[in-house]
Amino acid sequence: MARIHNLGFPRIGAQRELKFALENYWAGDSSLTDLQATGRSLRAAHWQRQAGLDLVPVGDFAWYDQVLTMSATLGVLPERAGHTPGTAIDLDTLFRVARGRAQNSCCGTNAASEMTKWFDTNYHYLVPEFTENQAFHLSYHQLIEETREAIAQGHNAKPVLIGPLTYLWLGKCARPDADKLLLLDDLIPVYRQLLQALRDAGAEWVQMDEPILSLDLPLPWQQAFESTYHRLQIRGLQQLVANYFGELGNNLSVALQLPVAGLHLDAVRGGVEIGRIVDRLSPHKILSLGIVDGRNIWVTDLEAALTVLRPVAERLGDQLWLAPSCSLLHVPVDLTLETALPEDVQPWLAFAQQKLEELVTLKAALAEPHSPAVTEKLKINRAALAARRTSARINQVDVQARVQRLSSHNAFRPTKFAERNKLQQAKFRLPLLPTTTIGSFPQTTEIRKARRLHKQGKLSGREYAQLMRAEIQHAIAVQEKLDLDVLVHGEAERNDMVEYFGEQLTGFAFTQWGWVQSYGSRCVKPPIIVGDVARKQPITLEWARYAQSLTRKPVKGMLTGPNTILCWSFVRDDQPRSRTAQQLALAIRDEVQDLEAAGIGIIQIDEPALREGLPLRKKDWTEYLAWATHAFRVCCAEVADTTQIHTHMCYAEFNDIMDSLIALDADVITLETSRSQMALLDAFEQFTYPNQIGPGVYDIHSPNLPTVEWIAELMHRAAEKIPPQQLWINPDCGLKTRTWPETEAALKVMVRAAKKLRNEF
Ligand code: GLN
Ligand code: ZN
Repeated sequence: MARIHNLGFPRIGAQRELKFALENYWAGDSSLTDLQATGRSLRAAHWQRQAGLDLVPVGDFAWYDQVLTMSATLGVLPERAGHTPGTAIDLDTLFRVARGRAQNSCCGTNAASEMTKWFDTNYHYLVPEFTENQAFHLSYHQLIEETREAIAQGHNAKPVLIGPLTYLWLGKCARPDADKLLLLDDLIPVYRQLLQALRDAGAEWVQMDEPILSLDLPLPWQQAFESTYHRLQIRGLQQLVANYFGELGNNLSVALQLPVAGLHLDAVRGGVEIGRIVDRLSPHKILSLGIVDGRNIWVTDLEAALTVLRPVAERLGDQLWLAPSCSLLHVPVDLTLETALPEDVQPWLAFAQQKLEELVTLKAALAEPHSPAVTEKLKINRAALAARRTSARINQVDVQARVQRLSSHNAFRPTKFAERNKLQQAKFRLPLLPTTTIGSFPQTTEIRKARRLHKQGKLSGREYAQLMRAEIQHAIAVQEKLDLDVLVHGEAERNDMVEYFGEQLTGFAFTQWGWVQSYGSRCVKPPIIVGDVARKQPITLEWARYAQSLTRKPVKGMLTGPNTILCWSFVRDDQPRSRTAQQLALAIRDEVQDLEAAGIGIIQIDEPALREGLPLRKKDWTEYLAWATHAFRVCCAEVADTTQIHTHMCYAEFNDIMDSLIALDADVITLETSRSQMALLDAFEQFTYPNQIGPGVYDIHSPNLPTVEWIAELMHRAAEKIPPQQLWINPDCGLKTRTWPETEAALKVMVRAAKKLRNEF
């Protein structure tokens, strides 16, 4: 009989208990003992929720991040966080690595470790930092202790750890060209020590996560797998190597030849490989199929899953395991908490808890296909899927027809940039190095309070709009006083750049408790794109019009782009992402057209997630970039030559997607460049980026005030790479997290620098 297990459960808690416990502890409002008690009770509750499984994961709980836990376990923490190599690590040290230490504390400052995205998810991990002669020591025992804890609570505990190759791959060396594989020889003995300790704690199985098997790996990395796992064998402990987030592709043979007891596959994204793998699997090996989507929130088509599973179960018998495709870290905890979802939508969804119930059903259906309980479950599932397929909420014929008409059209603006630029120059008469901001101004407590009261029905629509207009008035007055050239309305009315638009489009649904950890104690609540997307009514028009009425300077309309809405939502699984992107693009286009008609001559379409959407394998990039850039162009293809389109992207490496940035053909692109000291512009220079660029001149994440000299220095550097006629001056990103005094002071310096530079260029 097939066994069922889980790769990881969301640690944050159904009501974000861990988030609040952490933040209270960091604020000094609770003790370490309190924090540890919350952790213990969350783990116990989560294991209890998984008690219907044959094996439950341990090690999915992390105080901040599972990669950081691994680093601590192996003794890989930067010395600047106060860690002496070879000594035991406590929780406060862990937090110092994650969060840095502020200037005013007793013991000097230290920078937090760098954070980056975990594969193609929106989860961020802390990048391990390897020194030149990195030594490894078993320095932190959380995983071992929690394994004992789970076993003591009567669970069949399966510790989960990041495998050595993935762990090394994710880290960075002090010397960027260093060969991280050289660290393996020192790393393996510590992994062995850890594995032995886990066995001694009572574990029979461990799960070694090696999701880099979904990536294009250099040959030496592929070759390192087999010998590494040979050297990791421990008598009395079985290892399951887990790959997820993609197909094994050219790593398939590597994975099959590993000298381990079992292999986990992502059967959602790598389903096509199942046949090939079953055919080549060595006898006695376990095959774990991740048949339930761990990355999305839709119910599984159980019949379809069973069609895949039955022949495999026939061949493998009890060597077949079933699981979610990846850790459930990436989905919310429990759908039953939702009380405000549309009644018809609720049965289409499954969160972590429900996904585990699906595994229970699949197991039962394989074992006793004709049992009444199974028949009933399958019937309910079938009905939900049928209702979803035919729902009017999903299918809007006119939207589909509109997309159909679109697909053959390349959506380039008819007039080339050089010509448009002249016309725009004549229209706006902006000075050399025009100044602007990225869109948002401080989201003050008053603004948040007004929105909360409005949502609760305690503040009428009229009163709320009145308050927002007052905010806009203030923002415009400040910008006029500062003498900025292109103004913004300040985005006071927006809670979030995706949710705000989603709320005013058809096809979206919103959860109350659908939180997913982004990093540390930070969570996001992605909207769900349920059906065909269209704009119900103008979204930003009235605010933009009002802002423009207050000033003679141009006010930039401010929209979120289709790729970013797509990336930061749970998306449909019943049509390609590209089609959803096109629907979103058409909705945004409608808004662009309305803004233009209302006299908004400059419109910014933010696409900070364009690069994030890149597939894991290079072979899939071309297709993605083609439809993603097309979707962006669709938004602005029909505006007049004199309408100036801006886009904004946050920090990212652009070298390898430069062609696509050019293909967006935005008149102006603003970027986050101050942290990289304008090094990011090298690629723009190399590709002779033809349109205008606003390289960010100060870091908005920090309260530090920039100086005129600092900004001038950065702009001189920029001007060495890009002709000054093509440059704008702006902050790195939106200012919503700053205070008004910080904002005004920084922008004042920025405008002063711009005026000084105009005389120098
Ligand atoms: N216009 C948005 C803002 O200023 C852009 C935010 C972003 O790029 N993440 O807040
Ligand atoms: Zn940004």
